[in-house]
Amino acid sequence: MPLSATMEDIKAYMEKVDKNEITPFNLPDCPRCHYDSHFFQFHAYRDRRFLIIAKMLVEAVFCVLVRFRCPKCGKTFTSYPNFAIPYKQYTRQTIESFSSSYVEDNQKTYEEAVMTDEGTPEHSNTGQVLAPSSIHRWIFTLANLIMAYQEALATSHQKKQCRDLGKNLAATLLSKNKYRTDHRKECLLRCRWFFAAGDSFKNQFHRVCNKIWPHLQYDTSR
Ligand SMILES: [Zn+2]
Repeated sequence: MPLSATMEDIKAYMEKVDKNEITPFNLPDCPRCHYDSHFFQFHAYRDRRFLIIAKMLVEAVFCVLVRFRCPKCGKTFTSYPNFAIPYKQYTRQTIESFSSSYVEDNQKTYEEAVMTDEGTPEHSNTGQVLAPSSIHRWIFTLANLIMAYQEALATSHQKKQCRDLGKNLAATLLSKNKYRTDHRKECLLRCRWFFAAGDSFKNQFHRVCNKIWPHLQYDTSR
């Protein structure tokens, strides 16, 4: 699993933005009025800061995201590249990589999970290292994403398949030294479930984000 999106990934996305190749077609329909996303119109550009990891150094990179507007009700949406998770500065690859390293290993502590074979990532300007508490929070985010994913599935058959996958994982061994409360145990199991759901989940990403953060893309200045 890659440790981070790369500078090349971000540059490639910026090129697409420059060439007007970012379309609203893969966004879900408007959650407010259900209008087809194919009819969404360009609304604005938005600067977004990302933190990428290259050679164990954390670097800030700016990227432009595209906002679309529903012509029927005026709600606006941000189109997210596949390396972005709403509200998170680190890229999806970093969040997934460190979270997976912790939840998939029954013995690992958060302090150990920030260490990779090449060392612990540190901020290039301050020297501050990646905090174990970041991984703790990221696991919570991924656990929420998988719950919303299950909700967003279209048919009851898909929902059942997804739930069964979760139940099977709940039966797997989770070491007692990984959690102190039942709530956290549930969270860790859901995070394992997130990784087991894999690619099928990624195709639903926007729909899932809209479920969790329905207010996120709403622009009150309309
Ligand atoms: Zn609408």
